[in-house]
Amino acid sequence: MTTTVMVGEKPKVASKIAQALGDYSIEENRGVKNYIINTDEGKLIIAPAVGHIFNLDQVEEGWDYPVFEVEWKPTFETSDSADYMKKYYNNLRDQLKKADNYVNACDFDLEGSLIGYNVIKHITGADKDLIQRMKFSTLTSGDLQDAFDNLESFDEGMTEAGIARHILDYYYGINVSRALMKAVRKNDRYKTLSTGRVQGPALKILADREREIQKFEPDPYWEIYLNHSEFEAQWEDEEDRIWDGDEAEKVFSEVKDAKKTVVTNVKVNNYKHNVPIPFNLTGLQSEASSQFSISPKRTQQIAQSLYEDGLISYPRTESQKLPAKIGYKNILNKLKKQKNYKDLSKKVLNKKDLSPRQGKKKDDAHPCIYPTGEHPSNLSKQERKIYDLIVKRFFAVFGKAAKRQTLTFTLEVNNHDFKAKSKITKERNWYDLYEPYVRVDEADLPEMEEGQTLQVEDFEKIEKETKPPRRYSQSRIVNELEKKNLGTKATRASTIDRLYNRNYIENEPIEVTPLGLTIVSTLEDHCSEIVSEELTRKFEEKMRAIRDGEETREDVLEDAQDKLIEVLTNFKEKEKEIGAELVDTIDADRKRRRRLGPCQVCEEEGREDGILRIIKSNGNRFVGCSNYPDCENTYPLPRNGKIKSLDETCDVCGTPRVYVDRKKGKNYSLCIDPDCETKDDW
Ligand SMILES: [Zn+2]
Ligand SMILES: [Zn+2]
Repeated sequence: MTTTVMVGEKPKVASKIAQALGDYSIEENRGVKNYIINTDEGKLIIAPAVGHIFNLDQVEEGWDYPVFEVEWKPTFETSDSADYMKKYYNNLRDQLKKADNYVNACDFDLEGSLIGYNVIKHITGADKDLIQRMKFSTLTSGDLQDAFDNLESFDEGMTEAGIARHILDYYYGINVSRALMKAVRKNDRYKTLSTGRVQGPALKILADREREIQKFEPDPYWEIYLNHSEFEAQWEDEEDRIWDGDEAEKVFSEVKDAKKTVVTNVKVNNYKHNVPIPFNLTGLQSEASSQFSISPKRTQQIAQSLYEDGLISYPRTESQKLPAKIGYKNILNKLKKQKNYKDLSKKVLNKKDLSPRQGKKKDDAHPCIYPTGEHPSNLSKQERKIYDLIVKRFFAVFGKAAKRQTLTFTLEVNNHDFKAKSKITKERNWYDLYEPYVRVDEADLPEMEEGQTLQVEDFEKIEKETKPPRRYSQSRIVNELEKKNLGTKATRASTIDRLYNRNYIENEPIEVTPLGLTIVSTLEDHCSEIVSEELTRKFEEKMRAIRDGEETREDVLEDAQDKLIEVLTNFKEKEKEIGAELVDTIDADRKRRRRLGPCQVCEEEGREDGILRIIKSNGNRFVGCSNYPDCENTYPLPRNGKIKSLDETCDVCGTPRVYVDRKKGKNYSLCIDPDCETKDDW
C-alpha cells in the first residue's frame, strides 16, 4: 500500500477535488483541512497550498546591484504580509513526509506547475519521476474525476518555463528598480521606485500616448447640417468636414436660405453582423469594462472565484476555442435547469446543428471561458453580472449572424449633397441570445423615394476641433499588451495596477503622471532596452521555447544576465547624474500630490496665494496653509488610508475634497472641513 499526497493550489480547490473523487474524511492539522481518500492502491491525501508558498530571494544580504544569486525561500520568511502561509507550509511539510509519491493538482498553467513543484521539491527533494500532473480546465466533478483517472507524467517544460519566468522577472525587477533607487539616494533622497520586465514596456506605451497628447495641437474644421423635422443630414463631398473657414461660410451661404430639398439617391446595403467569438480572459475583461465599467483586475478576481466555485472553466486562458469535447449539450441541459436561462438554453438546444463560432487564438492548456452549468448560489452583485455575461456569450456563439441594413439617402440643395444614414436590424438571430449586452445603433428614417421633394427646417454650420489621440482605458491597455505579446494573461491586469500604486499613472482613462514620464525618459536615455518591447517579447518567445523543450532555462537566464550586466554597468557610471534628473521630478510630484486647493480663509482676508496642502509631521497628518504662520487655517485628515487630492472643491462649502484610498475596506471621498453640512449624517 502506498501513500500519495496531492497538492491543490488553494484550500477551496482541494475541497472541490476531494468532493469529486469520492468518499473522503477530513483530517485537520495545524488548523488546515486535509482530505483523505482510501483507494485501491492505498491512501490519497489532498493537501492545500495557498498560491506561491515559495518565493525568490537573493542569497546574500545587501542592497547592491546587479544580483543574480537567487534561491527559493518560504514566502512567509521573506514577506511580512505572508504570515498566514506559515500554517499551510507546516501542514504541507507534515503531509508530504508521509508520501511515497506525489500529484501536482494546481491550476494547469506555468504558475500552477511552479506552485506544486516548488512545494514538493523544496520540502521533500523528491525525484521528478515521483511527481505526476493532474490536468483539468473546470472544477466540476466529471472533469476532476476524469483528470485523476488520466494523470500525466511530470510537466517538465511548463515547470522549467515557470521557474525561468520567475527568475527573469526577479532579475529585471530587483536590479533595475535598485538602480533607479540608488541613483536617487546618491542625491540624498529616498523614494520607492520600481520597474519590471513587463512594467517598463507597459509604462512606455502609456507614456508615448501621453506625449502625443501633450504635443497635440487641435485643428479647426466645420460641419454643415440640414435639419428636417424627423432627421438630420450632413453635408458631404469627398469628406464630411471642411477644413477652411471661408470655404465653410461659402457653402453655408449657398444653402442656408433653401426651403426644399430633393432626394437624389437611395442606397440600400444589406450586411451580416457576425456572431461574437468565445471569451478568453482579455475578451472578458474588455467586455466587462465596457458593459459594467468593472476594471480588468477586478474582473479577473471575480472570474477566478467563479472558477473556484466550479461555475465556469479556468479563466486565465488565451484561448478563443470551444472544443466539442466539453459537451455542449450537457452544459446547455444543466443551464436549462436555471430559471433565468431556461428559455435561452432551449432555444440553443433546439438547433439542428450545434457548432459554435470560434476565434483564432489558441492556448495549449485550456479552452476558452465557458459556464459549466453548475447552479450558482450566493453570488455577489458583481459576480452575478460577470457570470451572466459568460453564460450569455456562451449562448451567443451558437447563434446565427444577425442581418442588418444601412440606408443612405442623398439630398441635394443647390448642387450640394447632404447625406442621411440609418442602420436597422432585419433579423436579430444571435442578438436574442446575448441580450441585454447587444450594442448596436438602431436609427430608423422615414420612407423616402428618389425624386421626392422634402421640406427643410433649417441649416446649421458647426465649428469643431480635431481631438487628441484617445487615452488608454485599463481594459484597452490590457488588450494592447496582449496584442503586442507582452506579459501573460495572468499578469497583465496586475502590472497596470502596480503602475497606479507607484503613482506613475492615475485616473481612468489613464493619465501618465510627470513622475511616470520621467521614469520612462530616464530609462529611455540610459537603458532603452529595459523599456523596449522587443527585448520583453524576445524573452516571452524564449519562455515558450523552454516550455516546448527547444531551449534550456540555464541558457536563457545566462543570456538575460549578460544583457542586464551590460545595461546596468552603463547605468551605474552615470548614477549621480541620472539621480539628479529623477529627484527634481520626485520633489515636484510630491508637492503636486500634497496640494489640495486654494485656502478660503486667505481669500477672505485678502492674502494672496494661500494653498492648502497635506502636511506630515511626527507621524501625524493634517491640512495646513502655505501662508503659515500668517494663516493658521488647518483641517484634520482621516487616520487611515492613502489621501489623494481630487482637484475639486465641495459644492456646499467650497473647501477642497480628498479621496481616501484604504487598502482594507471601502474607498471614499470627503470634504476636509469637519463642520461642513455634508458631514451631518456621518
Ligand atoms: Zn490660508
Ligand atoms: Zn464641504
